[in-house]
Amino acid sequence: MIKKNTTNLFVASAIFVVACLVYLYVFMQYNRVQVLHEREWVLQSRNVILVAESTLGIFEGTLAEQRGFFITGDDKFAQEFNADKEDLIQATQKLVDMTTDNEVQNGKALKLKEIAQNYVDYLQFRKDKFSTLSDKSFSNIEQLKSFKDGVQKIEDLHDDFFRVSGDLLDEENRLLRERVQSESERREQYNNNFISSLIGACVFIILTNWVIFTMQRRHLTENERLQKIEDRYSVAVKATNDGVFDWNVNKKEIFLSAQVFAMCGYEKENYEGSLLGLTIFLKGKNPLDYIHPDDIEQFKGRLNSFLNNETSEYNNIFRVKHSNGYWVWIHARGGGLYDEQGNVIRLIGSHVDITAQKQLEQRLRNEREEAENSNKLKMDFLAHMSHEIRTPLTTITGVSEILQRQSQKFDERVQSLVKTLVVSSANLRDLITDILDFSRIESGEITLNSEGIQVEKLFQEILSIMSVQAIEKNIDFISEHSPIANLVFEGDHVRIRQILINLVGNAIKFTQKGSVTLRPQLYDIDQEGEMGRLRVDVCDTGIGIAEENYGLIFDRFRQVDDTVSKGYGGTGLGLPISQKLADIMGGSLTVSSVVGEGSVFTLDIPVRILNIDEVVSDQMKVQSDLLNMNSNVQNSEKKVLMVEDYEGNVIVIGYVLEEMGLSYDVARNGLDALEMFNSAKYNAILMDVQMPKMDGLTATQKIREIEKDKGLDPTPIIGMTAHATYQDMDKCLEVGMSSYLAKPIRQQELCDLLKKHVGI
Ligand code: ADP
Repeated sequence: MIKKNTTNLFVASAIFVVACLVYLYVFMQYNRVQVLHEREWVLQSRNVILVAESTLGIFEGTLAEQRGFFITGDDKFAQEFNADKEDLIQATQKLVDMTTDNEVQNGKALKLKEIAQNYVDYLQFRKDKFSTLSDKSFSNIEQLKSFKDGVQKIEDLHDDFFRVSGDLLDEENRLLRERVQSESERREQYNNNFISSLIGACVFIILTNWVIFTMQRRHLTENERLQKIEDRYSVAVKATNDGVFDWNVNKKEIFLSAQVFAMCGYEKENYEGSLLGLTIFLKGKNPLDYIHPDDIEQFKGRLNSFLNNETSEYNNIFRVKHSNGYWVWIHARGGGLYDEQGNVIRLIGSHVDITAQKQLEQRLRNEREEAENSNKLKMDFLAHMSHEIRTPLTTITGVSEILQRQSQKFDERVQSLVKTLVVSSANLRDLITDILDFSRIESGEITLNSEGIQVEKLFQEILSIMSVQAIEKNIDFISEHSPIANLVFEGDHVRIRQILINLVGNAIKFTQKGSVTLRPQLYDIDQEGEMGRLRVDVCDTGIGIAEENYGLIFDRFRQVDDTVSKGYGGTGLGLPISQKLADIMGGSLTVSSVVGEGSVFTLDIPVRILNIDEVVSDQMKVQSDLLNMNSNVQNSEKKVLMVEDYEGNVIVIGYVLEEMGLSYDVARNGLDALEMFNSAKYNAILMDVQMPKMDGLTATQKIREIEKDKGLDPTPIIGMTAHATYQDMDKCLEVGMSSYLAKPIRQQELCDLLKKHVGI
């Protein structure tokens, strides 16, 4: 660009300089002609003066020679007189000729000529007359008188001639002065013009040269800069081993650097030329023939979308056949040069060989798949184990709880055995639940549910579940949630409850006297009132934790010291699980504590605020329904179908049903259940999921179909699943179950659900 500008400027300046020089030459020539012309006029005047002055001399001379002739009679004078006479006439004629340009002077010259003619004629006449005298003297008066008269005439002519000549000379002298003056002015002007034009031309040439020089220097600097960039670029490109391409879309020309070919195993120099030439260069092969058939459509698609301005950057990944037959992965990236209408005119970019990266990706993918498979196997194993362990565990915990409720019937030794049984089986149940939970979190299997959570309901639930333990330990359990009782926020109800129950459980466990307080608050609410943070402090007045152990208690299977597990039991998994869950929710779980005074565990999570519902605050439940279960009225007219294959569960669940005053039938598998459903009417069905012959999910589907065919109201079906993942629970609901219970079944939950569905 700069080079082009410099050339243009150089040509323009050269033309301008030549034009100036031509103008200067013409101008100076014109001035010179003018000066010469002035000079001619000066010479003219000088000549006129010279001729006029010489005329006067000849005029005098003519008379003197005639007189000499008269006095001496010498013929020599007569001859000179004749010659001068001719000269005089010629001189005056010359004067006439020389003054034709000036009318006034010409008039005077004509006058002089006329006087000279008269004068000459008269002198001739006088000479002729004098020649006729015999004695060559004036012998009589008459003759003398006429001679005297002649003298007078000559005198008059002489005077006239000198006067007119004088006038002519004066005028000519004046003209001469004027012309000399004019000539010198013209000459001076000529010199001035010449010098100023010369200076102007010199200045202009210097300026032009300076501009050209500056532009050339800039051009050189720019060239150097471009060269530097090019050097740097080519070294960098060489060092990265990337290939470079430059496709001129309009001209259908392409540049491919040697690396582009080298990547595919071909030893070729840079190619620069037409696309047709490239085909010849590739020995008749179309460049597209080298691309993997599976990638060709995507290759063309991406190229076209860039050319059609649908994407601002050209980005394409495709495979190209190597000369050795295998495929090389190429990552092509580039940008465009555009015309004024915004159309791509050139596409310039690079080819990077990403085969190694792709192979690594593939390996990682395989490894991940393998890991996922093995994780799945692990999870399947865990699920299976969970089912196997939970099923008998449900019976053990169930029986122990039943025995505990009947403990007043036993003596003290048995009572203490029952108590140990209750604590140990509950611990085992919690441990298994925690281990499964933790494995799920570790393997990333936990996905959070999103549902509307009523603060009032959530905290009432926690109160209702945890109050028993608090009452047993004779400590106050307070929830200060009433300021935000009406809040409904989006979150995973089960998981938030799980965290809080764990924290409250710990607080009660590690507090001997005093209180456990739940203190929730909503803060950091955004301007729209849509987002905020929910912070729940779980405060206790228990044993506290030393600051150096803050980090430790969040490590899995870690407790402050061994005496804790001995004194309080527990697995050391509750807090790590809770913290990980808080993490997944985008929040945190922290602790601050003073040994001997108590601890505050703080759950802090971001929440989406749904609305503030009018929730009528129930009275806090400090006594669990379960404790009042024995006082239930008889509901024997209501009948439940229990579908369960495991004998232990049948006994425990049957016991709970009996305690609730409900009658029940038992089916050992799905098929039996269908048969019994067809022959009797049930207020609810408790349906195990995993069973021989026909599983609970299929049985539920069939029951729903029968109900539909017969136009019956749907019977509440409560699933009982040992897997207890969200997917399993979702499956239960999908096939038409009304609710589900996770095994090992908590008798309280079973009670609550039955009450809800059977309506007692
Ligand atoms: P677990 O309670 O089952 O042992 P956690 O992970 O819930 O496991 O707790 C880990 C440890 O943290 C506990 O063993 C105890 O030493 C300490 N800890 C937890 N909560 C409290 C608390 N409220 N007061 C004192 N110590 C606590």
